[in-house]
Amino acid sequence: MAVKGLDIFKLTPKKNCKECGFPTCMAFSMKVAAGAAEIDKCPYITDEAKAQLSEATAPPMKTIKIGTGDTECALGGETVLFRHEKTYVNKALFAVEFSDADSDDEIAKKVAHLEAVKYDRIGELMCVEVASVRYAADKAKFLDLIAKVIELGRVPMAVVEDVEVAKEAAEAIKAAKGILMGATPANADAIVEVAKAADVVLGVSAGSIEELHDTVEKIEAAGYKNLVLNVGDSSVKEAYNNAVTIRTNTLKGDDRTFGYPSVVFVNKIACCEQMEVALASAFVLRYGSIIVMSDMDFKQALPLFGLRQNIFTDPQKPMRVEPTIYEFNKADDNSPVLVTVDFALSYFVVSGEIERSKVPAYLAIPDAGGYSVLTAWAAGKFGASVISDFIKESGIADKTKCRKLILPGKVAVLQGDVAEALPDWEVIVGPTEAMQIPKFLRDLMGI
Ligand code: SF4
Repeated sequence: MAVKGLDIFKLTPKKNCKECGFPTCMAFSMKVAAGAAEIDKCPYITDEAKAQLSEATAPPMKTIKIGTGDTECALGGETVLFRHEKTYVNKALFAVEFSDADSDDEIAKKVAHLEAVKYDRIGELMCVEVASVRYAADKAKFLDLIAKVIELGRVPMAVVEDVEVAKEAAEAIKAAKGILMGATPANADAIVEVAKAADVVLGVSAGSIEELHDTVEKIEAAGYKNLVLNVGDSSVKEAYNNAVTIRTNTLKGDDRTFGYPSVVFVNKIACCEQMEVALASAFVLRYGSIIVMSDMDFKQALPLFGLRQNIFTDPQKPMRVEPTIYEFNKADDNSPVLVTVDFALSYFVVSGEIERSKVPAYLAIPDAGGYSVLTAWAAGKFGASVISDFIKESGIADKTKCRKLILPGKVAVLQGDVAEALPDWEVIVGPTEAMQIPKFLRDLMGI
């Protein structure tokens, strides 16, 4: 919650000595409240006041790091309830759950899906980031599964409440910076010491949201704040209500006990595979930081990955690619030049279709502000002069002797002006839809 300038002013010594670089203590306090000055700039402020302030200005929801190296991810750290208010900070992660009660065939199928499901969309390579491993009864198989998912490059989440087994699980996951999902009201005192010793994130579960609150308070009092919260798995209603309550209380209330990322075991509350995908979608929108599925193949992953990418992009920043000349299918000095905008989605759709055509070609991308073709054109960022200046300055004329320049069909109106500015080029109006590009290019080049 934001701290007001007046609250900070109450903590200053009110000397108005200017040593902080501001004319008065009040002016200094207002700057600190606005985030434009550090409280340490006042040499007279007491340690007690500093501690009070740092607690008050701490973000309401903690950022929790898991994984190491390529698998490192951040969870939580959110500051708004709705994406349109500002932006979400750390994307929801997907997990697949293994168990020592699974048959070898089931495990092999999940492993095959985990390895196969990778989706490259708009420059982001997406996969299932976390592997949850639930302890049932076979400790050796449970620990083997943890080792296996680490070997597969996934962040391990060991789901185990038995404190003795949890000690071994914590040892197994500590180098991979995994999650020990094991704290309950009954074992909190003991398991927090296990998590502390291994320095791993501790997952907290309870039978009700009130119990969850009390258990988190107890763990925090024991000095551990590296936590994630299980929203509950007795029913869809309970999990959804708890996910919303936890996030709303964190961001809008005064109590920060729930200020941690949440874990949703969709595999425990869904009645079937289709319902798992539907619920996972709901929890991407409403506050799952880790969403656990029983399995994830391509047909489940693609809609979820697409939804997640749309929700966790910053709505205030257009997704762009670098304005430059791109080459496809071993473009050479006889290859035509297509033009489109630097909006990432336009680039990836057009480039995919050029690749599919198998026709060697160049793709010229001027700086069009990161907008789509028609928006950029309407905003004056993708006009004839932008295109012709880019073609002249990019050096593309030295790369190809072919002088065919293909404009997007949606801006056919630019053909005359671009042709006038580039008299050496044959300016051609291309298709209005990217899917028409392969046939268009093959016909154009007589292939
Ligand atoms: Fe006030 Fe401290 Fe700044 Fe002096 S240095 S004016 S006491 S805030």
